[in-house]
Amino acid sequence: MSDTTHVGIIGGGLAGLAAAATLAEKGIQTTVFEAGSQLGGRARNVAVEFNSQVVQLDNGQHILLGAYHETLKLLKKIGVDEQDALLRLPLTLNIKSLNHLPSFKFRASNYLPFPLNQLFGFLFCKGLSLRERTNLLHFMLNLKRSNFHIPTDKPLNDYLGAERQSSNTIKLLWEPLCLAALNTPITVASSKVFLNVLRDTFDGKKSDSQLLLPKQGLSDLFSKPITHYLQSRNGTILTGHRVKAVKASEGGFTVQSKDQLFQFSHVILATSALRLQDVASQLPKLAGPVETTKSYQYQPIYTIYLQYSTDTKLPHAMIGLAGTLSQWVFDRGILCGQHGLMAVIISAEGAHQNCSQDELALTVASELHQAFPVLKKPLWHQVIAEKRATFSCQVDLARPSHETHQKNLYIAGDYTYADYPATIEGAVRSGVNAANMINRSSDD
Ligand SMILES: Cc1cc2nc3c(=O)[nH]c(=O)nc-3n(C[C@H](O)[C@H](O)[C@H](O)COP(=O)(O)OP(=O)(O)OC[C@H]3O[C@@H](n4cnc5c(N)ncnc54)[C@H](O)[C@@H]3O)c2cc1C
Repeated sequence: MSDTTHVGIIGGGLAGLAAAATLAEKGIQTTVFEAGSQLGGRARNVAVEFNSQVVQLDNGQHILLGAYHETLKLLKKIGVDEQDALLRLPLTLNIKSLNHLPSFKFRASNYLPFPLNQLFGFLFCKGLSLRERTNLLHFMLNLKRSNFHIPTDKPLNDYLGAERQSSNTIKLLWEPLCLAALNTPITVASSKVFLNVLRDTFDGKKSDSQLLLPKQGLSDLFSKPITHYLQSRNGTILTGHRVKAVKASEGGFTVQSKDQLFQFSHVILATSALRLQDVASQLPKLAGPVETTKSYQYQPIYTIYLQYSTDTKLPHAMIGLAGTLSQWVFDRGILCGQHGLMAVIISAEGAHQNCSQDELALTVASELHQAFPVLKKPLWHQVIAEKRATFSCQVDLARPSHETHQKNLYIAGDYTYADYPATIEGAVRSGVNAANMINRSSDD
């Protein structure tokens, strides 16, 4: 590796940070530019004040899976102990219904070997008729046989209907999973990408299907230890540095930020899809990816935090709700010691976007009270609305690759990891892949 190699990374979300950590491990110099005042992008802490007390919340409750192998590798590399940082739960879905639908319960058996434990779970899940359960089991067995592959993409709702999944099974099982995994309405969501997530969850090792819930805030989990890791390896992090332009120049690239010019041999553009056009406008060879991302649509995620008295507790750390605006409720006391604090998630577009934040919090509080009478009146609430939380993961969505027509310039970001929807794992894999291309291109 030439010792003049210095990589400028534009964007300090998980893609940019994973790229920087991968390069730093190999002794390559990096500088990360982050427009915001803190690192982490869409996976970060937000400090809010109530009665002169500062409470750390996540910008949105995040769920990881045991199949997030690259994320787990990254955490290990930066010195995070998985057992301290993440609560590992067997794949369990508890969905409580507040309308005419029955409640749904799926739990992979702890005692049977993989994959029998899951097949047993499907066959004996609660809330579906015997016919629905046998259809579900057949469907899963067929998917395993075809390695979760379908030749042409189609909307998930249509695909599931054609696979003899009843409207009850779709409402109680597949739609909540689709919203949680793809953050895209099931009527337009990509079946292919959904099946990729199912494959990695249900067709690997038993541990791949487990749910991993952060026991600490997202910044403590990711950006703080990565900062420490990078700084101890000669990496530079510039927060509050919005990059205005990247230009190809003699022997590399010029990056303009805060009226300063920085020179790099290589650049990784690790902004979100939404922001790619801002930094790539002076790179004509990136016209293709810029045009592709300009056509993207985005989906919101709302997280409604409700604080109850500190002795309030739910029976599980994570419970789904059906027939309500609220989709999932997380007990942050069980997860990270924030006793009495509930985080309610509403993924993708819907009627909730027409409410004011206070109206939404009131509606959610009343739904929670109906579902769990122990949750009476919240002491305070905070709504965090990420209006363009993720790209809409629709049928046949074009996804740019990490490699570009501009030599020594790469793209990272969740949208560039084509197998996955917008996820932590997609972002981390994209960053690692882009960084590994720099190794290869420099060694060539
Ligand atoms: C509310 C919410 C809930 C989610 N839940 C889950 C979940 O449960 N499980 C899961 O796996 N995923 C979840 N996700 C998705 C996951 O957070 C993202 O896919 C991932 O964090 C994206 O990382 P990224 O690095 O690709 O992009 P980003 O996090 O968007 O990072 C891009 C960074 O680039 C910076 N930037 C942009 N322009 C410039 C510029 N000109 N100069 C310098 N910096 C710039 C931005 O400030 C940002 O920090 C959720 C996302 C949200 C918003």
